[in-house]
Amino acid sequence: MMPVEVRIEDLVRLELVTEDEAQGSQKRVFKKLKKAGLVSSFRDGTGLFMLSQKKMSDCIFLDSDTRLCTVYERRPGVCRQFPSIGPRPGYCPCIK
Ligand code: SF4
Repeated sequence: MMPVEVRIEDLVRLELVTEDEAQGSQKRVFKKLKKAGLVSSFRDGTGLFMLSQKKMSDCIFLDSDTRLCTVYERRPGVCRQFPSIGPRPGYCPCIK
């Protein structure tokens, strides 16, 4: 699975970051989330945070047993662009 890149607004929707924190330094947000093991990197130029991965390079929000997204209703924007064939609750577009 490809690493998932998210924006600050995705992190707010996921309730990993508060609105107040989002208004402040993104580098500070990165440090906090990195410490918590939630993200692996941050690119200042693009404002993209890379979500951490679990074993077998699964997204940290993928349930290892059911293979469903555990944050489907709050999933990042990039995960919403797929599939193009309407919503499939719980379905992670990164799973083949
Ligand atoms: S849909 Fe869910 S499990 Fe899949 S990459 Fe996005 S956040 Fe992770």
